Amino acid sequence: MLLEIHNLSKSYGNKKALENINCSFSEGIYGLLGPNGAGKSTLINILVNNLVQNTGEVLLDGKDIRSLGEEYRSLLGFMPQQQSLFDSFTARRFLGYMGTLKGMEKRKLNERIDEVLSMVNLSEVSDKRLGSFSGGMKQRILIAQAILNDPKILILDEPTAGLDPKERIRIRNMISEISFSKLVLIATHVVTDIEFISNEIMILKQGELIVKSQPSKMIDTIADKVYELHVGEEELPRLSSRWRICSMLKDNNSVIVRLLAEEKPDGYDCRPVKPVLEDLYLYLFDDRIQPSQEVLSKLKETVSQGCLV
Ligand code: ADP
Ligand code: MG
Repeated sequence: MLLEIHNLSKSYGNKKALENINCSFSEGIYGLLGPNGAGKSTLINILVNNLVQNTGEVLLDGKDIRSLGEEYRSLLGFMPQQQSLFDSFTARRFLGYMGTLKGMEKRKLNERIDEVLSMVNLSEVSDKRLGSFSGGMKQRILIAQAILNDPKILILDEPTAGLDPKERIRIRNMISEISFSKLVLIATHVVTDIEFISNEIMILKQGELIVKSQPSKMIDTIADKVYELHVGEEELPRLSSRWRICSMLKDNNSVIVRLLAEEKPDGYDCRPVKPVLEDLYLYLFDDRIQPSQEVLSKLKETVSQGCLV
């Protein structure tokens, strides 16, 4: 299975939301990362055929998804970002309703509802009303409806929005468990949601796909830009006025500071340390940092390498 995006652009009026996106996906988990407004939901809504692009095409095994219609929809499971739940429905009734909309046959649907409820760990509350569910339970029932038809392509828009860390971890683990032999695309602005479960991560910045590659490869592009320093507390204002501080840890009389710098900070006793994905995210999106052209072009190369156009 190969899903390809060619020269995809989308504007709302004269506001560009996506600009010339080119990439492809096969089986595996893909994390789509970017701050609010980057264009994630726009891209996802085009991929699930809810929104029409201005230019470009999306192909599944060489065929335009718009011409595949029902054939494509039957392969698809989708959890939208904007959710409205039917509070008076029980979990089971909600899934029954969604399955009927998906055209599933009744007997098969009832069996499948039990299966998915157990997969998302909601079997015990299957007859409780959705209105009484916690945020995490609501997100899980929405994932359950997305996997009802055992989709080969599963697309989740901000599946952990509004959840506490414990619930996030739970959802994340559940997604990796159900993702076997599927193409899964997860949009989020939270690095840790996808860092360790994605085969590939894509980063969108102002509608442009600036990287698509394995997390370790993209992190390598800032390998010489993260430093650790031990300084006295009085040094902090000076440091933060010159560099972007990623983290600080108080240690007896000093502070261990981790910061982003294009060049080794002079005048300080510091050592380069291995970057993590969050450092790259800061490097790309912090207002005070102008990412170097060198890093941007290295990142860009990973898009064209990953793309089978
Ligand atoms: P994300 O999901 O990454 O937060 P979106 O795809 O929702 O980003 O939005 C991308 C950009 O397009 C934003 O600037 C947003 O304000 C704009 N946008 C999204 N939907 C609409 C719409 N229906 N009408 C006008 N502008 C929109
Ligand atoms: Mg969104």
